[in-house]
Amino acid sequence: MNAALALSEIHDRIARACRIARREPDEITLVAISKTHGAEAIEPLLAAGHRVFGENRVQEAQAKWPALRAAWPGVELHLVGSLQSNKAQDAAELFDCIHSLDRPSLVTALAKAFDRTGRRVPCFVQVDVGEEPQKGGCAVSDLPGLLEAARGADIPVIGLMCVPPADIEPAPFFALLDKLARDNGLAGLSMGMSGDFETAVMLGATHVRVGSALFGTRNT
Ligand SMILES: *Cc1c(COP(=O)(O)O)cnc(C)c1O
Repeated sequence: MNAALALSEIHDRIARACRIARREPDEITLVAISKTHGAEAIEPLLAAGHRVFGENRVQEAQAKWPALRAAWPGVELHLVGSLQSNKAQDAAELFDCIHSLDRPSLVTALAKAFDRTGRRVPCFVQVDVGEEPQKGGCAVSDLPGLLEAARGADIPVIGLMCVPPADIEPAPFFALLDKLARDNGLAGLSMGMSGDFETAVMLGATHVRVGSALFGTRNT
């Protein structure tokens, strides 16, 4: 599908979900997840005016984005995949937002990277709402301690992020993430992917992460 058309369809679907939930579309940031896709797939979205993109691998983003950024001013790049502590410095240099802060050792590594680079990148704390440790995310019971550590390390935490279990109704998990964010005084909610972003918008998402619905299915 034509990228500009796919983009306007996603915006329409977000707007429709907003009407039902009595929200405003400008409360929601559409993060276009461009992982595995090359410049030839990304540039049509840039040409259509989109500027907020997400990647799940630091190395892949380092290879793709410096050239795209030079050609298209105003790009905002988000990291949505798990981050190894030894890549924290690279991530701090490249990304404008990190959605996958999920453990104390990463708090330490990011704090050091932010001090060194002079950039304090806004972060979401990823929560393992479905009790699937292999997906990353901190356990719900560990969230208060992790938030306290992040605040102590001067990491700007703007909200919570989740990837709910596949193949079951995601709404209860989105509602849980919303409750956890409220309980902890956080305004940001990164939730909703191609298959469920309208549900996420209706339940309060501020950032939806949409890949295949914009770019088509991935081969990898
Ligand atoms: C790949 C990915 C997405 C986008 O998934 P789609 O189903 O293609 O929209 C969103 N969030 C994370 C963390 C991802 O890894």
